[in-house]
Amino acid sequence: MNAKLTFLGTGTSMGVPTLGCDCAVCTSADVRNVRTRSSIALEYAGRVVLIDTGPDFRQQMLRSGLRQVDAVLYTHGHADHVLGFDDLRPLTFGRGGPVPVYADDPTADVLERVFEYTFRKVDKYPTSAKVALHRLSAEPGTAVSLFGASFERIPMIHGRNSIGGYRFGQAAYLTDMSDLPEASFDRLHGLDVVVLDALRREPHPSHSHLENSVRIAEKIGARRTFFTHIAHELDHAEVAAELPPHIQPAYDGLQLEFVIA
Ligand SMILES: [Zn+2]
Ligand SMILES: [Zn+2]
Repeated sequence: MNAKLTFLGTGTSMGVPTLGCDCAVCTSADVRNVRTRSSIALEYAGRVVLIDTGPDFRQQMLRSGLRQVDAVLYTHGHADHVLGFDDLRPLTFGRGGPVPVYADDPTADVLERVFEYTFRKVDKYPTSAKVALHRLSAEPGTAVSLFGASFERIPMIHGRNSIGGYRFGQAAYLTDMSDLPEASFDRLHGLDVVVLDALRREPHPSHSHLENSVRIAEKIGARRTFFTHIAHELDHAEVAAELPPHIQPAYDGLQLEFVIA
């Protein structure tokens, strides 16, 4: 079964342009240097599955033309990945059942704290999101089946935190990682597409930088690698020109097809 992956956003936590910044990338006329907060949408079998809902989620959905959400998987609970959760509301009404949402314990705790009114049992706000939160084990090998495709949680290192990426069929989405545990590489064999965090050129405590991401890409050996969670230090055209054709920076709105099951 084929699936379409859309990069809803490819920017780092502050977005690009970054507020208050006049650098060459932030003032660039190249639309590929305009990066909303990182998230992807997957379309297959008439369904739409999202990974993360950042602060730009509403505008990303309007821009993409997507009109439904059938499930959401979260990578971790940082603001740039969860703050669009409330904008799921209109897409969760009138569909005969709640939208399933998957998150590991630390992420589910954040969702339940920040969006407490959504999850409370009494005095429920009538137009809060109709979602069913499912907690994912952080143990290696955790997987959920969604509409005929399997989504396996891939343990990743994000600075001092342990978070999750996802593998689905012949693709994997691994944002916000500074490195991967050795065991996670074993779960990434035979990939057509891998999406990796590549923040900037200089090392960073909780995000992989360009040189490290190229090294990880070569070790995984996917047919195609795309970088995301990109900061304003990286100019799209410049980075695209210096990287080999099979390892390229993604940009908002980029779409690709792959086999999901
Ligand atoms: Zn992030
Ligand atoms: Zn800038």
